[in-house]
This record gives sequence, C-alpha cells and structure tokens, in this order.
Amino acid sequence: MKVLYVASEVAPFVKTGGLGDVAGSLPQALAEQGCEVGVVCPLYSQIAQEWRDKMSFVTCLYVQLAWRNQYCGIFRLEKDGVTYYFIDNEYYFKRRQVYGEYDDAERFAFFSRAVLDMLPAIGYKPDVINCNDWQTALVPVYYGIHYSYRSWYDGIKTVFTIHNIQYQGQFGSQITDYVLGIDRYHYDNGFLQQDGDVNLMKAAIVCANRVTTVSPTYAQEIQTPYYGFKLDTVLRWYQGKVSGIINGLDIKQFDPETDTHLFKNYSVKTLKDKKKNRDGLLEMCGLKADDDTLVIGMVGRLVSQKGLDLIQCVLGDILRLNVRLIVLGTGDYGYEQMFLSAKGWAPDKISANIMFNGDLANKIYAGSDLLLMPSLFEPCGLAQMIAMRYGTLPLVRETGGLKDTVHPYNEFTGEGNGFSFAAYNAHDMLHVIENACHLFANDKAAWKKMQIAGMTGDYSWSASAKNYIDVYEQAIKY
Ligand code: ADP
Repeated sequence: MKVLYVASEVAPFVKTGGLGDVAGSLPQALAEQGCEVGVVCPLYSQIAQEWRDKMSFVTCLYVQLAWRNQYCGIFRLEKDGVTYYFIDNEYYFKRRQVYGEYDDAERFAFFSRAVLDMLPAIGYKPDVINCNDWQTALVPVYYGIHYSYRSWYDGIKTVFTIHNIQYQGQFGSQITDYVLGIDRYHYDNGFLQQDGDVNLMKAAIVCANRVTTVSPTYAQEIQTPYYGFKLDTVLRWYQGKVSGIINGLDIKQFDPETDTHLFKNYSVKTLKDKKKNRDGLLEMCGLKADDDTLVIGMVGRLVSQKGLDLIQCVLGDILRLNVRLIVLGTGDYGYEQMFLSAKGWAPDKISANIMFNGDLANKIYAGSDLLLMPSLFEPCGLAQMIAMRYGTLPLVRETGGLKDTVHPYNEFTGEGNGFSFAAYNAHDMLHVIENACHLFANDKAAWKKMQIAGMTGDYSWSASAKNYIDVYEQAIKY
C-alpha cells in the first residue's frame, strides 16, 4: 500500500508540539509494516542547514491558487525507509514563525494544493493520503473539487486525522474564492461553513473518506458538546467514519538508556541511576531537595487546555507541600507570569523556564519524580507517555489519551502507572498531589513498582500502525 502522509510539521526537521512527533514517527512504523510511505512538509526557514544539506532537488512547478500562480520547488530526503518531500516557496515559508502569520490560510492552502499538484510531477500516486489538522485539511477538499475527476488522480482516498479539535482553521468567508480558489457556492451551501466562518476542519470531516483522531476516548469526547468545539454535530453526523487510534512514541528517540541529553543513562535494571538525573536537574535549576521531596515536572504549552487554571487556583497550596516544581513551557502571557511571579515568593520551591528547549525537556522527564498534566482536554498527550518511559509517574486528569494511557494507583492492589482525578476541579487535583507526596515519602517500594509498570509499558507504534493500516484499507474499500 502506498501512503502519502501530509503534515505541517515533522520531527526532527521542524516541531512545535505533538503533531511533529507523530508525523516524525508514525510513517516509519507504517514503512516497517510494509507500506511504501512518503511524507510531505513545507520547507520552512526554521529547518536546519544540516537537514537541507542532505536534501536533493527533485523538480519545480507552478501552483494555481485562485488568481495566483506560485512557484513550488520540491526537495527530497530519504531517512529510515521513508521518503520525505519538502515544498519550497520562500514567500510562504521563510517567516519568523511556523504558525501565527497574518496569511496562514493562504500559506497552508498553497501547501495543500502543492501536495496534490506535485504527485504527477514526481510520479508518485498514493493509494491513500493521510492529512493532519486544519493546516492540511484542504487536501481532501481540493481533491474532491479540483482533482478527483482527472484520470491521473482517479481512485486516491483521503484520511483526515484530528490532533486537536480546538484549532479548526477558521477564517472570514471572503477568503473562499479570493484566497482558497473555491467557488463561493461551497461556502453558501454550508459545506465549507460553520457558524458564519470558513471552517477548514469541518470541510475535511465532510470530504475525507475516513476521519481519525489520536485516542479512542477523544474520538468519543469530541462527539459531545463539551469537547467538540461546535464540531460535535458534524462528527456525530459522520460518526460511521470516525475512529480513535492512540499515538505511539518514537521509542528510539525517547529511551533513557540511550538519550544523550541525560546526566546519566539508565533503564529498569539500573533505575537507581535516575537519581543522578534528579540531582543534576535540581542543581541546574538552582533547587535543593532531600530524598523524600517530590520533584514535580511540567513540560508543555502554557495554555488553558493544559489545566493551568487548576494550577493557578491552588499553586500556593501545592508549593506549601514538600515538593519542588520545575516548569518548562511557553504560551499565554498570564500563565507565564504566574510561574515567574511564583519564583518571586517561593524561590526555593519552583523553577520557571519560559522557553522551548528539547534538551531541558528530556532532563525534566528523566529527573522528575512526577509529571503534572491536569489537562482540561487532551487528544492524546505524549508528555505523559514519555514520562512513564523515563520512570516518572504522571498525574493527570482523566480525559482523552490521558485516560487511555494512565492507570491510577490502586492502594489495595498496588497496581497502576500513575495518578489521576476525574472532575475538572482544583481541589480534587490538589488532593491527589497530596496523596502522591505522601506515597513518595512513605512507600518507596510501591512507588518503584509503579515506575517499573510505566517503564515496561508498550508505547511503540507497532499496534497503532496496524490500526492505521486497517483504516486505510477501509478507506480504499469505501
Ligand atoms: P501538544 O501536542 O498538545 O502540545 P503533547 O503532549 O501531545 O502536547 O506533545 C508535546 C510535545 O512537545 C512533547 O514532546 C513535549 O516534550 C514537547 N514540548 C512541549 N513544550 C515544550 C517546551 N517548552 N520545550 C521542549 N519541548 C516541549
């Protein structure tokens, strides 16, 4: 089976969050299962020269986007059994940031059309195109409107994967024909429209042959008004083509035994060496802690999705416990300031690192005792899985992928690989943090048992890649 995987970020070339991790690891797993896999991503200026040096120029063409006729260079790179294609256009992709530019609709509309236009130019006809999130949501839409009737493209199927339904690609209706090059009829008849705006994610849900999301629980949740961000109705309407497949990790990249970012490598057999990472992390962050002090790590975007309102509510109570809190993230100014100001009134207890830093992230996963992730919603979440792989117990809210991957501690059987709470309530979270503190200080054997359960869990892509292949087969039969 030939699969083309289309994403707006792909690790290790360019990554801003979980989508990059998935796009960087799922295609390899598909290739290991026997698929012929191509991956396409924009050639952003943020992609390092060391990768550019390994790319070769394939061809160039011009892409029609409404009245525009735009240059599109295609570069190629082979890695781990996967062929990566990069779409080059400096006007669109030589920018200060990957997302958040004034013309994002146009940039990613160009990318989506370029992906479809490049296929005959490179002589690659996939059976299935798997596109991801709103940035590539126009691929199934353009396929239906502009390509499906052309004989070369006949029979290609599309799968759309939702990594986070909060970000839908909503734009004013005026972009329909002027920017996207789509007849206004498709907006007026409702298919491109949601609540008076162009909504690219909705259009992809309607057009794609199959829709997946990144955990079974999230697949159910987004069909309800609480989690669906107003797309629950359309998802319920198309529920027959919606499924949830849990993400895997790149287990070679996130391996405490080989990770070059760590102070000392360790495994289940040498778990005592995790302490060297704890000591190194604390020293690096300018904190001191004894063996019974719970070192809590937080890594992620500082946005309300990640449960920061709960933390804001009880930060003082948390820092009064026998804990150290090490935060790494960027995001909303208010949350960044919350941690920075906490450093002012509890300097011995907290380290606030307002930055994006992959090296420090891995040091926190390895050096912490607990990873705090009380998300309001969490499509899958990778941080909790990375933490478990590094013997750090996650404390999560029971939602989405967190619910599917973290099994809470059972004090009667000793089973579990972390801690959890159900209601989005700050004091419920605080109570579980207190319990974790107590267990850590008083029952190291129970703690270690959970660490081992976490470290020996299967976070590889092998099972999930098979599920993706099933979905692709369903799409082909569709
Ligand atoms: P999301 O995709 O919602 O941002 P995930 O938990 O699925 O959250 O994935 C986040 C990924 O990005 C993880 O690999 C995490 O380590 C990484 N990450 C997030 N914020 C930072 C940061 N400030 N520095 C380094 N890595 C980060």
